[in-house]
Amino acid sequence: MKKLLVLGLALVLVISAFALVGCGSKAEEPPATDAASSNEALDPAVQAIKDAGVLKVGVKQDVPGFGLLNPETGEFEGLEIDMAHQLAEKIIGDASKVEFTPVTAETRGTLLDNGQIDMVIATFTIKPERLEQWNFSDPYYQDSVGLLVETKNGYTGLADLDGKTIGVAQGATSKDAVQTEADNLGIKVKFTEFQTYPEISTALKAGKVDAFSVDRSILAGYVDAEREILPDSFSPQDYGIATKKSNTGLADYVNQFVNEIKGNGELDTLLANYNLK
Ligand code: GLU
Repeated sequence: MKKLLVLGLALVLVISAFALVGCGSKAEEPPATDAASSNEALDPAVQAIKDAGVLKVGVKQDVPGFGLLNPETGEFEGLEIDMAHQLAEKIIGDASKVEFTPVTAETRGTLLDNGQIDMVIATFTIKPERLEQWNFSDPYYQDSVGLLVETKNGYTGLADLDGKTIGVAQGATSKDAVQTEADNLGIKVKFTEFQTYPEISTALKAGKVDAFSVDRSILAGYVDAEREILPDSFSPQDYGIATKKSNTGLADYVNQFVNEIKGNGELDTLLANYNLK
C-alpha cells in the first residue's frame, strides 16, 4: 500500500513538471504583431505605405538630438529620425525605407494636409487647437520654453528683458509662451518672427534681437562660447507624432508604436543615445 502511494505521488510530480515546462515553451508566446511579418489585415492607410515601400516623414533638419541633417555625412540623425526608421521597419520590414522631408514649425502642417508626407515627427507640440487640425500620438518627450542670449549682454532672466525684442519662429508656441510669462512678470516685450531657427540665431549674433526663444532642446543646438541658455523654463509641452486628421487608422497604428517603445524601454534607450533627459 505504502509503495503504491509513493508511486502515485511520483507520477503526480512528473506530470506537474511537464505542465510547467509546457507553460514556458515558445508555443505559448503571443504571435508577432508587426505589419511586416503579420498576416493580419492592416488598416488601408498602413497597407498603402507598405505597398508603396516607403514611409514619408517630415522631420527637423536643424535640431541636434532630434532631427539634424549632418553636413558631414549628408544623413539625418537624432531621436525622431530613429523613431521613423523603427516605424519603417515595423510597417515595411526595412528600416531604411524612409523618405525624409525637412520641415519647419510653419510648413509641417501644410505638408501633412496636402499628402506630401505621411506623418510629422518634428518636435511638434501637442496643443488643444492643434488637436482639432491633426491627430497626435501620445507624448514621447516633454520640453519647456527657454531663452538664449549673448552672455556679454548680462541678462540673467526674462525679467531683465523689459522693453527688449525676442526672436521667435513663425508657427511655434514660443511667442504665446513668452507673452504669458512676460504678463506674469508685468514686463513688456516685443517680438520679431522668423521662418527658421538659423535665421533667429544670426539675428541674435547681429544684435537685431536681444534673445532667441523656443523649446530648450532646440536652443541647445545654438549655444556657443559667447552665448548661454538662461535658467528660465516655462510652458512645459509634450511632443507627439502627427498624422492627417482624416487618417485615423495610421494615427492608431502610430500611437500603438509610441506606447510600445515607451513600454519596452526602447524609447529610454534612444533618449540615452542622444543624451536627452
Ligand atoms: N515645439 C514647439 C512647437 O511645436 C516649437 C516649435 C518647433 O517645434 O519648431 O510649436
